[in-house]
Amino acid sequence: MQRDHEIVIVGGGMVGAALAARLGYAGLNVGLVERGDAPTAPSGDFDLRISSLNARSLAFIEASGTELPEARCCSFRHIEVWNQGGKGHSLFSADDSGLERFGVFIENRALQYALWERLKTLPGVTCYTQCAPISTLTSSDSRLVELDNGKTLNADLVVGADGARSTLRELAGIDITTYDYHQRALITNVETELPQQDVSWQCFTPTGPVSMLPLPGHHASLIWYDSDAAIRDREMLTDNGLKAAIEAAFPKRLGNLIRVTGHASFPIKRQHAKRYIAKRLALIGDAAHVVHPLAGQGLNIGLHDADALADILLAQRDVGDAKGLRRFEIQRRFANQAMITATDGFHHLFTGSAPLRRLGDASLQLAERFPLAKRMMMQQANGLNPFKRG
Ligand SMILES: Cc1cc2nc3c(=O)[nH]c(=O)nc-3n(C[C@H](O)[C@H](O)[C@H](O)COP(=O)(O)OP(=O)(O)OC[C@H]3O[C@@H](n4cnc5c(N)ncnc54)[C@H](O)[C@@H]3O)c2cc1C
Repeated sequence: MQRDHEIVIVGGGMVGAALAARLGYAGLNVGLVERGDAPTAPSGDFDLRISSLNARSLAFIEASGTELPEARCCSFRHIEVWNQGGKGHSLFSADDSGLERFGVFIENRALQYALWERLKTLPGVTCYTQCAPISTLTSSDSRLVELDNGKTLNADLVVGADGARSTLRELAGIDITTYDYHQRALITNVETELPQQDVSWQCFTPTGPVSMLPLPGHHASLIWYDSDAAIRDREMLTDNGLKAAIEAAFPKRLGNLIRVTGHASFPIKRQHAKRYIAKRLALIGDAAHVVHPLAGQGLNIGLHDADALADILLAQRDVGDAKGLRRFEIQRRFANQAMITATDGFHHLFTGSAPLRRLGDASLQLAERFPLAKRMMMQQANGLNPFKRG
């Protein structure tokens, strides 16, 4: 049967667009299906959705020839984590791992826009916007996706990158496991009096962590985790009321705020697809897994899925070959389960009962005393092999 594309990717968010750019740059014929419009260039105040990109994610994006907008990126070289009221305190520095920087914070929209700008230059990539799949069927050697605009696309492989509520996952009959932390994250973008752009820090408190993610200039994104009710109350405050509440509750090192530029809250859940693959179909990114955001790894592991899948697809003649897809699932499901378990463990160690919190405190003190263990943790957080020296 005639193919429209070698690969159809459903979902043009950061993960789907990054895979399309990597495969398109390598010369494959790719169709990208996005329910919304093409992203627009970010301008003015920083967006509320911010993500960190670690070393492996940055290398993957670079490998597609995509350029990140420097003016809206903030590189950072240290991560500091401590326990409020305890002795546990760890400082992770890029230097200790021989890295120039730990990573980059970027607005989700700025990254998505940069990737879509790159897609426009790749002749093998076709973007279909304002449409979504309504059914999918396989034949022996291809998969069809029927779209809600009347079009049908036929490909050797269909990839679901359509986020946590993935339609493609549902259409393929893949189940998920979920867990609700009964917490929300209040994200507030602020302008600070102090510059602190070199470091990202997180302080664990008994009700949940508070974190500072640096943005360019004197800007920062603050994340305040707490119960649903407590976050809802804070959301009712005026910008000045919220500014005062943050100055009172956040660690003193944040200093005074000049202004609050925006805020929004998100529920905290974890989720894992029971399978990542079906016949001529693979899931990547949030369509496959959602992790607690406290370690800032959700997007990173999604991009690592895309990286692993691209490597496998580019090395085989039939991109839908079941053996390759199986290899992808084994590699990524195991790694992502480890990340889900680790972030879950952090949450319960630092937000649980007093004995658990003491254990969490002791683990931070221990990490600080063993440089090798610290270095391996940093390599892991960067998506690099923790057993490789140098
Ligand atoms: C509070 C918070 C803080 C976070 N901080 C970080 C961080 O610091 N670092 C980090 O790595 N991660 C972080 N994350 C996680 C990160 O935001 C997600 O993992 C990431 O956005 C997932 O990207 P994605 O492309 O897989 O999915 P999405 O961003 O959800 O994109 C899915 C895309 O598919 C499209 N779509 C949806 N349904 C359809 C359909 N039926 N048909 C066609 N298209 C469709 C959508 O319009 C969208 O464009 C955080 C998350 C939260 C909640």
